[in-house]
Amino acid sequence: MTNMRGKHALESIRKIKPFVQASLNITKKRCGNPGCRCAQQGPLHEVTLLTWKEEKRTHTLYVPIEFRPEVERWVQEGKRLKRLVAEVSQAQREFLTSKKKGRKSKKG
Ligand SMILES: [Zn+2]
Repeated sequence: MTNMRGKHALESIRKIKPFVQASLNITKKRCGNPGCRCAQQGPLHEVTLLTWKEEKRTHTLYVPIEFRPEVERWVQEGKRLKRLVAEVSQAQREFLTSKKKGRKSKKG
């Protein structure tokens, strides 16, 4: 049971692709190799990190450079899913509200 708004959001959720609810951060680091260019003048190495919060703690995961475009898609999809989840919740609340208005009871 839902309304048009909920139906549309649910259809989108069914088509969701792999996702991750986290964000991508790009930082620059030294690799630790004393013979590397980064140890002297640089440039430093670009490092992509996936960060997310779990039970109030921030977690970080290294993302290999070749996976960056793919993980970016997961992050975008994760944001989309979050919006869709909120959308369905809103639709269900609207559904209840509309039923309450439509009902003819003495106490309302
Ligand atoms: Zn280096």
